[in-house]
Amino acid sequence: MKGKSLAKVLGALILVVVFAGTVFSALSGLSETEIEKKVQDTLKQMSLDEKIQQMHGVVPLGRAVGLIGESLNPVLADTWNTAENKRLGIPALRCIDGPRGVGKGKATAFPVSMSRGASWDPDLERRIGEAMGYEARAQNANVLLSPCINALRHPGWGRAQETYGEDPLHLGVMGSAHIIGVQKYVMACAKHFAANNMEESRFFVNAVMDERTLREIYLPHFKMTVDAGVASVMSAYNDLNGFLCGQNQHLLTDILKNDWGFKGFVVSDWVNAVDDAVLAGNAGLDLEMPMGKHLGEPLKNAIEDGKVPAKNIDDSVNRLLRMKYSFLTPDFTQGFDKSKVGGKEHARIALEAAQKGTVLLKNDKSALPLDREKIKTLVVIGKLADAKNIGDHGSSDVAVPYVVNPLQGIRNKAGTGLKVVYESGEDLEKAKQVSQGADAVIIVAGLTWKDEGEGGPGYGDREDLNLHKDDEALIKAVAGVTDRLIVVLEGGAVITLESWKNDAEAIVMAWYPGMEGGNALADLLFGDANFSGKLPIVWGKSIDQYPPFDNKAKQVKIDYYHGYRLFDKKGLEPSFPFGYGLSYTEYNYSNLKLSAKKIGKSGKITASVDVTNTGKMAGEEVVQLYVSCNGSKVDRPVKDLKAFTRVALKPGETKTVLLEVNAKDMAYWNMDKNGWEIEEIEYTILVGPSSSAKDLSLKDSFKISGI
Ligand code: BGC
Repeated sequence: MKGKSLAKVLGALILVVVFAGTVFSALSGLSETEIEKKVQDTLKQMSLDEKIQQMHGVVPLGRAVGLIGESLNPVLADTWNTAENKRLGIPALRCIDGPRGVGKGKATAFPVSMSRGASWDPDLERRIGEAMGYEARAQNANVLLSPCINALRHPGWGRAQETYGEDPLHLGVMGSAHIIGVQKYVMACAKHFAANNMEESRFFVNAVMDERTLREIYLPHFKMTVDAGVASVMSAYNDLNGFLCGQNQHLLTDILKNDWGFKGFVVSDWVNAVDDAVLAGNAGLDLEMPMGKHLGEPLKNAIEDGKVPAKNIDDSVNRLLRMKYSFLTPDFTQGFDKSKVGGKEHARIALEAAQKGTVLLKNDKSALPLDREKIKTLVVIGKLADAKNIGDHGSSDVAVPYVVNPLQGIRNKAGTGLKVVYESGEDLEKAKQVSQGADAVIIVAGLTWKDEGEGGPGYGDREDLNLHKDDEALIKAVAGVTDRLIVVLEGGAVITLESWKNDAEAIVMAWYPGMEGGNALADLLFGDANFSGKLPIVWGKSIDQYPPFDNKAKQVKIDYYHGYRLFDKKGLEPSFPFGYGLSYTEYNYSNLKLSAKKIGKSGKITASVDVTNTGKMAGEEVVQLYVSCNGSKVDRPVKDLKAFTRVALKPGETKTVLLEVNAKDMAYWNMDKNGWEIEEIEYTILVGPSSSAKDLSLKDSFKISGI
C-alpha cells in the first residue's frame, strides 16, 4: 500500500511557520495596532519610578535564596511576581517554572524534556506546551519559565534532562513547538540565553567562543523561538565572552533585539545573574528577577546620573507592556478549570510522551517484547523499579498527584496469569536466586536527582558517566543466571555502558519518564505500544569522547564541535549514534528524489523519500535528513541535521515523506564579513533513520547558485 500523508510528513520546520503569527494579540483580543497605541498611551503617563517598578520582581530575598540549595517544595511554591500598577491598571507578571510540568500545585509531571526530545515529535511537544500553559493559567500564573533550549555540549551537565538534546535545529523545532502550545494560554520563556551548559560554575563561568560558534551552534535555536513569537527570553547566569549574559550588549541588543527583531522582553535568571545596573541597563536587560537589586534604585540613580539613557528604560517598559497587553486580560483565569491540573486529560498526553520518548537501544534474540502467553514468571529488580524517579528537585520539580513507577506499571499490565517477583537488588545472592529459572528478568537502574540536577559550586553535574558500581555489579551477577536480561535505564542523558552492554539482551533508555512512566514502560515491554524514540544526543562509549568538561573553571573555551559533529569530525565510534533507536518493526527507505538539482540563494528544495514498514507491527518512524557541503572554503561539519519528521506506518504500508530545506539554512557565519554567507557550491542530502553513515545510504546532490 502506498499513500501520501502530507499533514503528518511535512518537515518539522513547517510547523513553526504555520503557527507563527498566531501568538501575538490573540489572547488579549487586541490587534497589534491597538496594543502599540495602548503601550504608547500608558508610557506617556508613567513617572520614572513607575517605569523602574515594571523592571524588577518583588519577591523577598528569603524565598529567592531557597533556590540555591535544597529543593523548593512546589506545592508550597507560589508564582514569582512583579508589582501591579493600580493607578494605570498595569497587571503584574506572575512567573512559574517548567519545563517538566508546572511548578505549582499538584500538576502533571510530563517526561523530562530530554525524553520529549527523543520523541522528535513537535506536534506532541506543542500539545504538552498547551497542557502546561493551561495548568499555569488555571493557577493564575501568566508566564511559564519554559522551555530550556540550551544545547547539550556534554552529557555531564546536571540539567541535561531539562533540554531537548544537542542539535540546534532539533532544539529549535522542539522548543518552538512547546512555545506555540504554551502561548495559547500564557507567556513562554526561552532559557537560558546563552551557552549555559554546566552547573557547578554556572554563577561565574566565562564561556569564551568565537562568533561563528555562537551564531551557528549556540544561537540558532533561540532565533527559531523568536521567530515563533516567544514572549520572553531568560538571560543565563554565566558570562559570554567577558560579560554576564544579562549585561551582554552584543547578545541582548545587537543580536536578539536588533538582528532578530525580538519584540518581547529579556528577563534575568534568578538572583545572581546581574551585578551592575549601568551595564545591565545599557545592554538591554528588561526585567530583573526575582527582585530589583540592580534594576531598582541603582538603575534609577544611573539614569539620573546620565549613565544609562532614559530611552533604554522606555524601550524595556515598552516591551513589558507590549507583552502584558498582548497576553493578559482582566478575567485571566475565568473559565479555566483547576480540576484539569494534574488530571486525566493531561495524564494521557504524559503517557503518550513517555511511550514516544523511550528509546530501545538494544534488542538481541528478540528479548522484547514480552509475550504474555509464554511468560509465566517475570522478575523485576532494582531500587528504581519501585521508586518515584521523575527527575531533578531543583526549579524544574513538579509536585505530582501520583507516579506510576516501573514495577507498578508492569504489575498493572501483567494481570493474573503472569507472576511478577520483585527484588530490590541490594543483596546480589538474592537477586541471582530469584532470577534463576525466570522467563525474563528486568533490571531498572540509573540515576536520580542526587546524581544530577540544578546546582552550584560543589554539586549538580556528573563527572563520571558510568552507572553506579553496585548497579553494574547487579547486572553482571544476574546476567550469569538468565539469558533474557532486560536493563531499563533512567537518567537525564548518556550513561556509558560498554563494560556491561554485552551482558544484557535488551537495553531501554526510559529517561525520567514522568508520572505515567511505569504504564508507558509496561506498554512498550509487552508490545502493546511500539518503540519509536530516537536519541537526541550521541551516546559515547566513554567520557573522553566528549569535549572537555571543566565545570569548576572560571573560564572555558567552547569550540565549534560537540555532539555528533565532533564524533564525525574525529571519526569516533559511539555506542549509539545521534538519531538512533530500534523498534519492533523494520523500515525500508527508498526512492529519494529532490525537487530540483539547482536552487538560488532564496530558494528551497524538497526531498521526497518512500518509507515502508516491512515488519509485522504498526509503528512510527523518525525520518532524518542531513546535509554535507562539498568543496566549502571553510571547515564545515561532515554533516548537519537539516530536517526531520515522524511518520506512522501500518505493516506493509509505504508513505512518501517530504522534507524541506531552505538554501539559507546552508549558510555559515563568515567571520571576515561578520555576516551569513550561502556558498555557491554543491550540497549532498542524506536521508535515513539515524546519523550513522551506514544508515544514510540514500543520497543525492544539488547546487546553490544565483539569487
Ligand atoms: C533557574 C531558572 C529558573 C529560575 C526560577 C534559576 O535558578 O536557572 O531556570 O527558571 O531559577 O526558578
